[in-house]
Amino acid sequence: MHELSATESILRIVNEEAAKHNVSKVTKIKIKMGVLSDLLPECINYYFEIISKNTVSKDAVIEIEKLPLKIKCNSCNAVSNIGIKHFRCPVCNSQDLKIIGGNEFYIDSMEVE
Ligand SMILES: [Zn+2]
Repeated sequence: MHELSATESILRIVNEEAAKHNVSKVTKIKIKMGVLSDLLPECINYYFEIISKNTVSKDAVIEIEKLPLKIKCNSCNAVSNIGIKHFRCPVCNSQDLKIIGGNEFYIDSMEVE
């Protein structure tokens, strides 16, 4: 259900943009998604195919780019991209970290015809 509402908002935004610019066909939608986002790309694709029928986005391909987990170390102030399973500052090894990126979910760009 989570994915359905996310997909609905993507479609709404894209179709509104398309209408604003008199676009008749959207060919690609690029989405950026943080690794902490629990949305499943397969589900987004699946729902998109269903709900985009009869809209200018019906043939659009969804491309999802994963964004890394980004932290700021409270000990040494370094900003780094780290893996979820290695929750440590790569510079000083501290675990006192502040998450500053990885929860993103947004439309990066769209291609039209
Ligand atoms: Zn550090």
